Amino acid sequence: MARYTGPSCKLCRREGCKLFLKGDRCTSGKCAFDHRSTAPGQHGAARKKVEEYGIQLREKQKTRRYYGVLEKQFRRYFDIADKMAGMTGENLLSLLETRLDNVVYRMGMAASRKEARQLVLHGHFTLNGRKVTIPSLLLKAGDVVTVKEGSRSNEKIKALAESAGSQVVPKWLEADSSAMSVKVLNMPTREDIDFPFNEQLIVELYSK
Ligand code: SF4
Repeated sequence: MARYTGPSCKLCRREGCKLFLKGDRCTSGKCAFDHRSTAPGQHGAARKKVEEYGIQLREKQKTRRYYGVLEKQFRRYFDIADKMAGMTGENLLSLLETRLDNVVYRMGMAASRKEARQLVLHGHFTLNGRKVTIPSLLLKAGDVVTVKEGSRSNEKIKALAESAGSQVVPKWLEADSSAMSVKVLNMPTREDIDFPFNEQLIVELYSK
């Protein structure tokens, strides 16, 4: 399964905002973006005139990188969102939010989406009672994600579950810390997604 393996902090500097790709480090004094927020590279600090296309492209890249999705898959999500009823941009964000790795991250069982992806790949979760190892799975209302019985004694999982207990989950999810599970109550709406995306720019980019 293909994934981005380059330096994460460079992505934040490229997009000009914190994408929170490295868990606790992002909120500590060690965040690279807090120390240097210019774009990476020799001419990163140079002021450049950005065209309309450039602005749209950056918004798409920012969204894609925030959720840790590669280009081909992101485009596929857009095509699905475009066929759904309602606003394409909002549908796209809603689909990205319902990815299994994102839900694991939102329930507090991982410090970052990257870590959530890793935990899912290693088979630590079940979906509606069945083992699942596909981080990109799109969940739907009524789905229940639970830490696998055999993983509950794992020290790392135990520590994550402990910190997850104090985590506030978005209102489209319902967490049960004693059962180490989370239920999808409904598809997330635009108001449920607190990151400052401008999804309309992505729609404009792909509609060219
Ligand atoms: Fe981005 Fe800072 Fe986290 Fe690095 S530490 S991924 S720069 S938010």
